[in-house]
Amino acid sequence: MDTLLVVNAGSSSLKFEVFAASGSLARQVKGKMEGIGTAPRLTIRNAGGEKLADADYPGDAVPDLPAAMRLVGQWLRERHEGRLVAIGHRIVHGGPDHRHPVRIDENLLRDLERYTPLAPLHQPNNLAPIRVLLDSQPQLAQVACFDTAFHRGRDPMTEHYAIPAHYFAEGVRRYGFHGLSYEYVAGRLAEIAPVIGRGRLIVAHLGSGASLCAIHEGKSVESTLGFTALDGLPMGTRCGQIDPGVLLYLLQEGGMSPAQLQDLLYKQSGLKGLSGISNDVRDLLSSDEPGAGLALDHFVHRIGLNAGMLAAALGGVDAFVFTAGVGENSPVMRERIVRQLGWLGATLHAGANDAGELLISADDSRIALYVVPTDEELMIARHTFALVAA
Ligand code: ADP
Repeated sequence: MDTLLVVNAGSSSLKFEVFAASGSLARQVKGKMEGIGTAPRLTIRNAGGEKLADADYPGDAVPDLPAAMRLVGQWLRERHEGRLVAIGHRIVHGGPDHRHPVRIDENLLRDLERYTPLAPLHQPNNLAPIRVLLDSQPQLAQVACFDTAFHRGRDPMTEHYAIPAHYFAEGVRRYGFHGLSYEYVAGRLAEIAPVIGRGRLIVAHLGSGASLCAIHEGKSVESTLGFTALDGLPMGTRCGQIDPGVLLYLLQEGGMSPAQLQDLLYKQSGLKGLSGISNDVRDLLSSDEPGAGLALDHFVHRIGLNAGMLAAALGGVDAFVFTAGVGENSPVMRERIVRQLGWLGATLHAGANDAGELLISADDSRIALYVVPTDEELMIARHTFALVAA
């Protein structure tokens, strides 16, 4: 049996999934190594959800991503049958030129390393396992799938910041992210509801990273994310849209170093910073602390404001679609967000929302409301399969 491995390497975790790839794709095993460098834990389940592995390691046994990759590789070689024919990687930044997934070679890897300053917390981790595999198994096909690619092909005017034009040429552009998720959700919605799926959509990817994307005829028109994955909505620990004057103030008057500022904006802000409690929406929903209420009110408010912006970009809205951790799992947050979209004529079917059904709008809602679980791993597997088969 030929198999494909999908690798999604984050800042302290390595998610992976194996698909059988003979004619069509079939899920085999899915796993996660968390707490890399601190308290590493490997869990692996089969397609039926049954646990195949659940092991803790000392921190120094899995100090970094390459070590995690080697450990996962060893587990798969020993315990999983099948002939690995290709690996698909989630890469957060593909720069201005990559519109499609591509086969990885030494030149491509060097090209992608150039984008590390644009995604300092993600890109090096995404690339580390590729380097390990390129050195140890150069004959193995590896495919790069970019979070930015879905947004390429937008009107170039939308990709500018209003700063001198030579910065655009240098790569200071509004790239947009979460593209693999949006591509999957848009495709899935087109299967579920073909007419609406080709219409004017706002898709809300609300996980620990959060953004909205305006999609028309299956293509990205606008998004709330820009040059880096910091813009737009407040996220678990990232600030979202902020007046650049605040950054100047923190540098000039607050005496912050660039490294301290980076830590503040990526790791100490968002829901965590505002609430002073947690980056996790579940913790905030169950807390009576005023900070928790403020953070959630602000999150919902900003989603409403940004939805208005994307509605303008689309010239109207046919459907609003929820996805990712919060969007898929929290009826309470969906209800609060839909109330914020009341001006668009959105009304919820309370029963369908509570039951987590696909279609959650009331019959008289002027726009359709959907919950479509995302599947970035399947999207990567499809791209990888298509490229390798070709
Ligand atoms: P990522 O893949 O970016 O780590 P996810 O899409 O898995 O993120 O989303 C994780 C977030 O989803 C958690 O931090 C939590 O805030 C939120 N979440 C998950 N389940 C629920 C739930 N039942 N209710 C509210 N929020 C939830």
